[in-house]
Amino acid sequence: MNDSQRIQAVDVTPRDDDSVEISLYEKRERIHPKSIHGRFEQIRNMTVWTTMGIYLLGPWLRWDDRQAILFDLPARQFHIFGFSFWPQDFVFLSWLLILGAFSLFFFTVLAGRVYCGYVCPQTTWTRFFTKIEEWLEGDRNARLKLDAAPWSPTKLFRRGSKHVLWLALAFATGLTFVGYFSPITELTVRVFSFDLGFWEFFWIAFFTGATYMNAGWMREQVCKYMCPYARFQSVMFDRDTLIVSYDERRGEPRTRGAKSRDQDAAGDCIDCGLCVQVCPTGIDIRDGLQYECITCAACIDACDLVMDKINRPRGLIRYTTEHALEGGKTHVFRPRMIGYGVMLALMGVVFMVALASRVPADLDVIRDRTKLYRTASNGHIQNSYRLELHNMSQQAQTYQLGFRGPEGLVWSGPEEVTMNAGETQTVGVTLGFDPFLQVVETQPVWFTLQSRTDESIRTEHESRFIAPAQ
Ligand code: SF4
Ligand code: SF4
Repeated sequence: MNDSQRIQAVDVTPRDDDSVEISLYEKRERIHPKSIHGRFEQIRNMTVWTTMGIYLLGPWLRWDDRQAILFDLPARQFHIFGFSFWPQDFVFLSWLLILGAFSLFFFTVLAGRVYCGYVCPQTTWTRFFTKIEEWLEGDRNARLKLDAAPWSPTKLFRRGSKHVLWLALAFATGLTFVGYFSPITELTVRVFSFDLGFWEFFWIAFFTGATYMNAGWMREQVCKYMCPYARFQSVMFDRDTLIVSYDERRGEPRTRGAKSRDQDAAGDCIDCGLCVQVCPTGIDIRDGLQYECITCAACIDACDLVMDKINRPRGLIRYTTEHALEGGKTHVFRPRMIGYGVMLALMGVVFMVALASRVPADLDVIRDRTKLYRTASNGHIQNSYRLELHNMSQQAQTYQLGFRGPEGLVWSGPEEVTMNAGETQTVGVTLGFDPFLQVVETQPVWFTLQSRTDESIRTEHESRFIAPAQ
């Protein structure tokens, strides 16, 4: 059995309640995770605040008098700090996506689902929504009580305030998202003066609604049923991947209550259930590795608190590996991890080199296809070309046009053009020769574009000069 099959097998290990048939349409029990303090909670706080901060502040950053991160679809330009990308640069976007995918593979093999537990947007937003809920409705027990209580002015006020704040955060999320595509300063002014275009209104409303539903209502359901990563991550796991696990050999037989237990016969688990109460996906980690576990480590913090109280060593639930749990040695460097790591490093280097050597100018040459060549009134043999020039830099540029090709060809057309930043121009030129003085055969020619403003900007494009048969 390979690793993925084995982990799938862990997923379906019969649990105590597997004998009970569960309807596919059974009503979902709302999960109210208990808040907990601990070292992993502090790390999680740091990562979710950082993720949220970067997202919300991102479009407000400025660079060279413009929005630092702006995906300007109408102008077909992507600005990311000092870089501006055009449709011609699509290859960089593809590289970025491939790099992102390999990073995910690499870190999943190395550290399991750390992405899910600490920086995933679903985790981050759900956490903020839960904090708002906790602030207005109280801790886990108070929220459970409020759920069960009949409607009253207090319940109405608390619930209403919660939904108002949820909607406010969801709206900030939607506005920020659209602000990555439409300059956010003007967009914000238009929002508050009710002067939005249809598509701006639609996308802000869509992302507000999606955030409100996903983080406020659906929460762990998104991870369990909608996220594809939860489904395919098992194929990247092996016995040395970091997981959150309960140490069954140490914990069992579990004995309820700390005082009544027989220290020699009982395991360390006092069956307090705290690890289940803090779990945002509502699972019991003592049932084994489950695909619902997002490795947020809340259960580790909870159990460590319990162990401290009953004077037992921490780590009954801990970050570990299957090899370590079985008493073996964890291998950090495995062929699969080295493979992903090498691929990631190689692609990272290639991407950086390609980015550093990117020329912010584009030259496309289109030969006149209606005639292979023409004979001018002075008897010269000529080919016509259309040069499409694109200044992809952030400054105005003066370019010198020219060509490399066979001796005897004469250029006819503009030799210099000045273009504003981001401007596109089309220039018609001809190449020709005097057949009474020179013989030029059909050969390749290279059109060149050299900036006079910035000597490092130079590009060329190959075409062909076609001459009559001799
Ligand atoms: S928190 Fe620890 S002691 Fe309490 S039930 Fe969970 S594993 Fe057992
Ligand atoms: S089992 Fe533990 S690590 Fe997994 S999701 Fe629940 S609390 Fe987080």
